[in-house]
Amino acid sequence: MPVESAPRIGHNKKMAEIKLAKTAGFCWGVKRAIDITLESARGKGEEVYTYGPLIHNPQLIKLLESKNIHVETNLDNLKPGSEVIIRTHGITPQKRDDLKRHGLVISDATCPLVAKVQGMIRKFSRKGYSIVIVGDDHHAEVAGLKGFAETPVYVVASLEEAKKLPDMEKVFVAAQTTCDIQNYEAIKKYFREKCPDLEIGETICEATDERQSEVIRLSKEVDAMVIVGGKNSANTARLAGIAKEQGLDTFHIETDDELDLTHMAKYQSIGVTAGASTPKWIIDAVVAKLSSIKEQRKPLPVEILGIIVKSNLFLAAGGAILTYTNALMLKETPNPLIVGVAFCAIAATYLTNQLLRPKEIQKSQIRKYNYHLKYNSLFWGIAIAAAVSGMVLSFNLGWPSLAIYLAVVGFGTTYGLDRGRFRLFVRLKDIPASKDIFVSLAWVMITVVLTYINEKGTGNITFPLLITFGIAYTRSILFDIRDIYADQVIGKEVMPMLVGKEHAKKTLYGVLLGISIICIMDILFGGRGSLMAAYLLGIAYLLGFVYYNESKIWINSAKFDLFLDTPYFIIGAVAYLIA
Ligand code: SF4
Repeated sequence: MPVESAPRIGHNKKMAEIKLAKTAGFCWGVKRAIDITLESARGKGEEVYTYGPLIHNPQLIKLLESKNIHVETNLDNLKPGSEVIIRTHGITPQKRDDLKRHGLVISDATCPLVAKVQGMIRKFSRKGYSIVIVGDDHHAEVAGLKGFAETPVYVVASLEEAKKLPDMEKVFVAAQTTCDIQNYEAIKKYFREKCPDLEIGETICEATDERQSEVIRLSKEVDAMVIVGGKNSANTARLAGIAKEQGLDTFHIETDDELDLTHMAKYQSIGVTAGASTPKWIIDAVVAKLSSIKEQRKPLPVEILGIIVKSNLFLAAGGAILTYTNALMLKETPNPLIVGVAFCAIAATYLTNQLLRPKEIQKSQIRKYNYHLKYNSLFWGIAIAAAVSGMVLSFNLGWPSLAIYLAVVGFGTTYGLDRGRFRLFVRLKDIPASKDIFVSLAWVMITVVLTYINEKGTGNITFPLLITFGIAYTRSILFDIRDIYADQVIGKEVMPMLVGKEHAKKTLYGVLLGISIICIMDILFGGRGSLMAAYLLGIAYLLGFVYYNESKIWINSAKFDLFLDTPYFIIGAVAYLIA
């Protein structure tokens, strides 16, 4: 149900602009809890339990259910030896003892910031302070915090409630981590004036602070605000409350299904943010749906560009250009047949694979999914035409080329599909972090090896091979980083998930610097001189992309694909000029 206040239209803004808050979505405490939970369940045949809902988001809880991770609060329903995960909000020491007495194996996903507040309460309580917690008495975090007090403990939600408390000599005041900052400030001020022996805990977490501050900032730039997240999530409800207090029409929704586009179309500018427990794919779906208000009026050239990018034709053109450049590097005259095979192989493989996995694409790339729905027949037509054309072209090159083509397209289109249909490829998929390596090898086969075996080149194949592998690997990992949380629930084991996002980025810097050194060495000693400058420019571009790609405005938009696939065109254009 939308929470509406008086309309506040009249700023000078662009038409139907959607502004996504930078802080929207998972905080690090929630990410950590999901990582711990999925790690506990990974590879286990038996069921795993969370003691109460892991986070306050029904959609994520439903997804975890499908992965054998169930919510349970009745210990009688759990067999001794079962694994139980303590959720982000934490539990009381008494509850923890109960779990142990019951013989359960405990994994603790309590947010470290909540654990810190628990420790503070215990410490001051043992020093004889009465405890005042500012927050919602019915919230799981507050219930857990109360259990750490050994002296009288009071929970107040407002200044009015604080004023009704009995007189106390020594008081420790702490806030629920997701408490409203203004409310807490007012209560702290009241206690400062009232209590001679007062200790205050600055316990509102930074993630909450940042999200609330951004809502206030964003409110000044938009006509309406959409807050995405569980209706039972305290921090999400607080964001909605703050937006409403700013005088904005505010819509607290759990999923995009609750959006009434006809109603939303009346706003010229809409802000979107989400609670700390809202998954990225739900936020993306909301942004995509709201963007469709604007997209309904999208100019034809922009729509055509969207089709080219979302059908992977842009990427395929990039692959063809890389094949052309690699041929020059192999000291060959580029063969149009081979360039055509590369184009067809990449278009057919990527497009067919994505068309065969609609559910995964819906979770990780909602805008691409919308294009797939809208242009389904056209996209299947492109995929089939590319696959058949590639077969004809590679047959004209000879049997070895046809065999390479069929192996790459056959493997690529079916890789990662549901268990049962293509068992061999499913097993390969189960090798952790294998996807990025297989993808990169496929690029090497199509854009380097095909030319090498056909032209019986005299050039050194090692450098083009390593550079192509490095560029394809970087592209693949960057997509993994973007889709990391959707992939986690889907069950993919991509490299950034195994080593963490930051390590994955460091690996990319290493890969790109490594292939830069190869280029420089070749310029100095390999004799291909200026041609290598083309690759160096493309690699420099990718280094910049790795550094700047976290901009959330790009998420799942065609711009991400467009910018990420641009280096092939830079490399090709420079190589063409030099050649
Ligand atoms: S909102 Fe803050 S306290 Fe709560 S889980 Fe996230 S990081 Fe931890």
